[in-house]
Amino acid sequence: MFSFTSIEIYQQFLLANQDGCKIAVNHYLSVIEANKQLNAFLEVYAQEALAQAADLDAKRAAGNRPLGKLHGVIVALKDVICYKDHKVSASSHILENYLSIYNATVVEKLLAEDAIIIGRNNCDEFAMGSSNENSAFGAVKNAFDETRVPGGSSGGSAVAVQAGMCMISLGSDTGGSVRQPADFCGIVGLKPTYGRISRYGLIAYASSFDQIGIFAANIDDAALALEIIAGNDAYDSTASQQIVPNYSTQLQSNKKYKIAYFTEALSNPALDKEIAASIRLFIEQLKADGHEVEPVTFELLNYIVPVYYVLTTAEASSNLSRFDGVKYGYRAPLTATDDLTEMYKKSRSQGFGKEVQRRIMLGTFVLSAGYYDAYFTKAQQVRRILSDTTTTIFKQFDAIIMPTVPTTAFKIGEKSTDPIEMFLADIYTVFANLVGIPAISVPLFKHSNGLPFGLQVLCSHFNELSLLSLSKRMLELKK
Ligand code: GLN
Repeated sequence: MFSFTSIEIYQQFLLANQDGCKIAVNHYLSVIEANKQLNAFLEVYAQEALAQAADLDAKRAAGNRPLGKLHGVIVALKDVICYKDHKVSASSHILENYLSIYNATVVEKLLAEDAIIIGRNNCDEFAMGSSNENSAFGAVKNAFDETRVPGGSSGGSAVAVQAGMCMISLGSDTGGSVRQPADFCGIVGLKPTYGRISRYGLIAYASSFDQIGIFAANIDDAALALEIIAGNDAYDSTASQQIVPNYSTQLQSNKKYKIAYFTEALSNPALDKEIAASIRLFIEQLKADGHEVEPVTFELLNYIVPVYYVLTTAEASSNLSRFDGVKYGYRAPLTATDDLTEMYKKSRSQGFGKEVQRRIMLGTFVLSAGYYDAYFTKAQQVRRILSDTTTTIFKQFDAIIMPTVPTTAFKIGEKSTDPIEMFLADIYTVFANLVGIPAISVPLFKHSNGLPFGLQVLCSHFNELSLLSLSKRMLELKK
């Protein structure tokens, strides 16, 4: 029986097994089949994955070296990442059956290192949501408890790793969409620094926030995936030119850190009492391990959700204007008297789901001439203050810790009728995207209700090495 613990151990298995990739692909295909009801995959590339596996097995047998760093690693992609000649729909009717005409840079990089792409994961439509209930292709279920959400928007990618349907997966994180489902599913979810990974080939939601992120079963795998997919890209001017360290070989778990936590975050009335207590207890454990952990006042906490929703919806209203029924995607059936405007209206009303429509309208409103200064400009000003405050904090501290989400995974349907309640649950995750810093959800805890939850760790820009090293240490401490 094939079983997976880490990429390193898997690659040793491959060196000892001629048919190793084939064995692994067959294993994952059967797990995917057995877990169909979770709805994590919109499409499975069974034949292609088997063909890729056969090629890789042959490459090893022929003694072709070097093997790619992700040789045989089985990866799934959120349905917002372009894979040439494969469908990408942002889980929306408006892009249903649309075929990618090019590879996202991350896909090029994965394939260049011998990864096997096994399928396309369900998500919230255009990555807007926190529960994966906004997909045009049905909700995704949490494998721990199928009556509960897996989180969102990258719910399918999280469940794919959680339920052992692939080794790692890529999602996107605009306001928590990798960290929040990782928290709900009990796995590692990393959102790197804005600009660490090229966004070329990622369907845009809010361009100044979006970043591709990684789901993994452990920190080492996340570190390895990051070092492969990060880096400068001529196709994305916001991708940073900073050198990409070899994260996977440079992780150190014996360093001592100066860690801050926000007083307001832990005393927030919306925070589950048991989550707060577990984190407080863990702070003591960190101190005992030789780290300095101190409270910091952060009075801006209550502003970050409104600021996030003003700015991201503004950017979304602009980004999503390209889906107009003309250039690509769904076009509504028209009557003889329908004019161009009617064609736009019908196509967009029928093609986009309710949440996406709500955000396009909200974003259009905050950008409208009469309200621009009151909402958009004001929110940009707060974003600036947040950035400055963060810079000051990182002058004194190496890392910040806080909960990833105020509660454990909620029931399917529990929050879907109240968008505000759903938005407020993003209180801890949107901060990292507003200021562009890297953040991770580390699966450290189990609630008395039986569900897992994580601790969020944040570091300064491009400090993923510290982020991953500290996270690794935290997991060791919990063992
Ligand atoms: N839950 C947040 C939202 O609905 C985050 C989405 C994301 O990161 N893509 O906007």
